[in-house]
Amino acid sequence: MASRTRKTAPIPIDDEAALQRVMKLMAIPGPPGKEAAVMEAICAELRAVGLSDRDWSFDDAHRRCGFGEIGNLIVHLPGTRDEPTRLLMAHVDTVPLCVGARPQVRGRFVVNSNPESGLGADNRSGAAAILTALIELLQQRLDHPPVTFLWVVQEEIGLVGSRYVAVDRLQRPRLCFNWDGDEPGRVTIGAIGARRFTVEIRGVASHAGVAPEKGVNALVVASLAVAELQRKGWHGLVRKGKKEGRANLGVVEGGKATNIVMDRLRIEGELRSHDRGFQRTMAAAYKDAFRTACTRVRSVDGKQAKVTFRDVEAYRPFRLDENELSVRAACGAVRQLGLEPELYIANGGLDANSMARHGLPTVTLGAGQRNVHTVNERMHIPSFHRACRIALRLATARQQELLGV
Ligand SMILES: [Zn+2]
Repeated sequence: MASRTRKTAPIPIDDEAALQRVMKLMAIPGPPGKEAAVMEAICAELRAVGLSDRDWSFDDAHRRCGFGEIGNLIVHLPGTRDEPTRLLMAHVDTVPLCVGARPQVRGRFVVNSNPESGLGADNRSGAAAILTALIELLQQRLDHPPVTFLWVVQEEIGLVGSRYVAVDRLQRPRLCFNWDGDEPGRVTIGAIGARRFTVEIRGVASHAGVAPEKGVNALVVASLAVAELQRKGWHGLVRKGKKEGRANLGVVEGGKATNIVMDRLRIEGELRSHDRGFQRTMAAAYKDAFRTACTRVRSVDGKQAKVTFRDVEAYRPFRLDENELSVRAACGAVRQLGLEPELYIANGGLDANSMARHGLPTVTLGAGQRNVHTVNERMHIPSFHRACRIALRLATARQQELLGV
């Protein structure tokens, strides 16, 4: 891709209003499934610039997935000129840790004055960036192609809102852009996929004092399996030849009392890779390790534990071609701001994974999030403002102009 940089005269935006907007959104609680209040705040801003509820709709993603209080918010603006439709999207939910955030400006950052919670810059910065683009577009009466704005629910629990989005209401976008991340010039063109698994081990209960030898302890079976997986390099960062993945045992529950040989244990974990085949290879290694471990622990009367291993694809990996229109347009908008775009492949899932499955190749850009999913989360204000400008440009600039940079 051309490395020359051409800065275009910036379209002015109201930086102070954008900052106030993102801080207001960050202060609203909105964990996955509880996004009604933040959606209402977005709709209030839309009303303030002259839109009415005829101009937007909510889909029924929450009903289709069977969880949550509200669906995805869709606003479509018919174009002032004839060009293919563009999609600007961002998820609005935060990880539950961010409930209780009290955003505050400190220097070049928005920080959180509540030490117990995360800030929620992930992803209120993205949600506010596209909202700012929409507001500026209307207030400045900018010329624009047809644009669909999409605020997505339930991203943080496995890209659920985007998986169940009403694709037929998006007006067939040809260029698709998502905001969720840090660097405004980072153009994410691919992301990892994941399988989730559950292991249930049913051992044999017995009194731990009277007849421990008659029991089969499910934790002992699990421990042997986990030790073997660790020893063979199947846990954490997994590298086998040219294949690479990530495996994590994340949740364990089991046992009833100290005087009972533990007869039930449940483990949940996930396996990530950019290669779907290798995800299945990792799943097979896990299944095999738990099955083998069952045969290595027996009670005095020859009983052994049984294991049930279930795995399911949570989201698919994707990778866009560097010549894909959305990629070229995003790089163009970044260059117009005087930044050099950085093409990137993410090791976390994004709503763009779901969009790729819907046949909508979507690039993801950053909006100033730092230390996400921790109590140290903050938002870099200049990066957020750049994200707003890039979003506005992607909503308004002529396609030829974006692709010609
Ligand atoms: Zn996010």
